[in-house]
Amino acid sequence: MRGPSGFRPMETIRSVSENIAFVREEIARAARKAGRSPAEIRLLAVTKTVDDDRIREAIAAGVDLIGENYVQEARRKIDLLGRPLPWHFIGHLQTNKAKYAVRLFDLIHSVDRIDLARELDRRAAAQEMTLKILVEVNVSGEASKSGVPASQAITLVRSLAEFPCLSIRGLMTMPPWFDDPEEARPHFAALRQLAEAIRREHIEGVHMDELSMGMTNDYRVAVEEGSTIVRVGRAIFGERPV
Ligand SMILES: *Cc1c(COP(=O)(O)O)cnc(C)c1O
Repeated sequence: MRGPSGFRPMETIRSVSENIAFVREEIARAARKAGRSPAEIRLLAVTKTVDDDRIREAIAAGVDLIGENYVQEARRKIDLLGRPLPWHFIGHLQTNKAKYAVRLFDLIHSVDRIDLARELDRRAAAQEMTLKILVEVNVSGEASKSGVPASQAITLVRSLAEFPCLSIRGLMTMPPWFDDPEEARPHFAALRQLAEAIRREHIEGVHMDELSMGMTNDYRVAVEEGSTIVRVGRAIFGERPV
């Protein structure tokens, strides 16, 4: 049985590995519906507030990409669980945490301002590395959301492209909450169109290969609209404590 968003009610959710298998099937189904190959979409398991044992269970069940929202929490978990698999940062990043973020994460999804980018670039340079980033876009224009407004995204990408130690790989968005995931569709489509517009600018060093979009309630729609990374927490691990 499914709820209105296709998210199964808690009583039908079983083990983490069964949930992962279910989400992967749903991703594959949405991909095929849109004429895409399921191989184009990566499942990122969102592990904020999730305890270590359940993260281990997810890794054992084949999860190969983990996303965290908080630098401190991620530091502890990465120390414990190691980095044979990539960890991504998906939360709001404070500029004063940039030095940790550069060391800990393989991709930062949430770069939305120049001062943060400057600090990430400086820290990456000190480590003699190139840091992969996505630009977070506030497609809906909701005042409460982080992300650069869509109208300023190309300008920001042009500025970020100047930083030698940052590599721009694509865009990320988080639409407003809707009970009906169909309402998120225009926001996902808008992000894809924005990436296409940026691609047409042929800005040196800028890649638009990744679209990070889709969460538990709306990942199927996001896949249909071109997502390459879906960020799923609750459909894998159950509801988070509030
Ligand atoms: C928490 C979070 C997710 C996962 O949300 P779920 O509803 O648990 O799937 C995805 N992206 C971001 C940025 C988040 O903060």
